[in-house]
Amino acid sequence: MYKSVIAIVTLILIILSVVLAMLLNKSEDYCKKRDRLLAEEDSAFLGANLTLTSTELKVDKILLELKTTELSLGYKNSSEFLPALPFHRAKERIDESKVFGFIRKLPKGGSLHTHLLAAASVDFLVKNISYRDGLYGGEVNGVFKLKFMHDPLKDNRTKWTSVKDLRLQQGSQRFDQWLLEQLTLTQDFPSIETAWTKFKRIFTTTYDLYSYKPVFQEYIQRVLQELYDDNVMYTELKGTIMILYDLDGTTYSKQDFFRIFQAAVEEFKSSHPKFVGVRYIHSIYRGVDFDTLQQGLDEIIAMKKLFPDFVAGFDFVGFEEEGKTLLDYAPQLLQAQKYLRFFFHAGESSWFGHTDLNLADALLLNSFRIGHGFAITKHPKLLDFGKEHDIPLEICPISNQVLKLNEDPRNHPAATLMALNYPIVIGNDDPSIWNATGLSYDWYVVFMAMTPKNKGLEVLKQLAINSIRYSAMDKEEKNDAMKRWQQQWNNFLIDILLQDDKRGL
Ligand SMILES: [Zn+2]
Repeated sequence: MYKSVIAIVTLILIILSVVLAMLLNKSEDYCKKRDRLLAEEDSAFLGANLTLTSTELKVDKILLELKTTELSLGYKNSSEFLPALPFHRAKERIDESKVFGFIRKLPKGGSLHTHLLAAASVDFLVKNISYRDGLYGGEVNGVFKLKFMHDPLKDNRTKWTSVKDLRLQQGSQRFDQWLLEQLTLTQDFPSIETAWTKFKRIFTTTYDLYSYKPVFQEYIQRVLQELYDDNVMYTELKGTIMILYDLDGTTYSKQDFFRIFQAAVEEFKSSHPKFVGVRYIHSIYRGVDFDTLQQGLDEIIAMKKLFPDFVAGFDFVGFEEEGKTLLDYAPQLLQAQKYLRFFFHAGESSWFGHTDLNLADALLLNSFRIGHGFAITKHPKLLDFGKEHDIPLEICPISNQVLKLNEDPRNHPAATLMALNYPIVIGNDDPSIWNATGLSYDWYVVFMAMTPKNKGLEVLKQLAINSIRYSAMDKEEKNDAMKRWQQQWNNFLIDILLQDDKRGL
């Protein structure tokens, strides 16, 4: 009896251990499969091809600690996750972020998608330029405009009042606050259309002010200084040819615009030898008629002949849901393609099978890069085509949030693009309009909201490399820029490690 009980218990134990072993095996197999699947994804992510040096790995560890700490706050309470808050409410807290501090110091290479007249901080205009003598304000066709003038009676479009008097009437603080509100998009808009309406008005407000030659020259220096302070060494600026003026009524030719612009850049470079340079991308409103487009194309082709190293190419600007499509303009663009590189904004849209189809034309017209390309993940064939032809997208997440394409950057299509290792560069689009400066805010949003928790320095390094690789610089300039960037990068790594040592003491 006793023996048979022992035999039964032994048998049960054997069966249990076999079942347990099978279960463990199964679970081990499952874990292995899971690891393999995730490792495959991990190795396909943007930057995964880079092998970090031992110094870089040490810096990476520091960065990932900072990133994990900030993400943990968001995991507990998503309202603490700064990139997902409206930028105007998050900005001051982002300024305090350690990850942001790290990114500000990091040599970011180039800033390739910025609109010239929204490139410097709005403070420069409100607290500096608007205090200059000779500045007048007045409403023209329902929009408040600013213009420097010697004799305001000579411009009879409106009754101009000197900004000095406006300040006396309203009080400086109140007027400055009002002006800031005119020049920024820092409120919630009910629709994408209302946001764009105000956005366009801002450029009308400031255009004449920036066309005043001394201000224009100083403005260019300021734009470059802000990028330089943000550790950006090169930029491509999208603009229109401005007829610059002096107070005595002198106006300058279109060629002068380029000469004055280039001279301001050269002056900056001579006092900032680490800064590599600037290129200009000519932009035309996407609603113009065919004759106006042809004139614009002819004009910029002629200017490119005169300023071949400065003029990078051509783009369309404006609300993509309005105006014409790239397909409408295709016959003229196919002709111009022989002489010009294209840098089209395309697919800056939430629609599907509508405005987003501009992406097909931007790709087929051989755009050198594509601005935004927000809709591309809905078009797997176009995405494959872009990857095959190595056509990068310029990702500007804060712009997309402010202009109501994407409220929460965790759901931004660029997260998928990076997971597929699609080539991207980061742009700041119109930083002054959201009261930002430099490029780091956009880098911060991309890094925190669109990359996995375990992705660190390799992503940032790849983004910096991409910004040089996909720039409009020629091969020799790119090699030189890469060398200079590498030097800055090495110094940056040493600085971070030194700083960490000091903290550990
Ligand atoms: Zn843009």
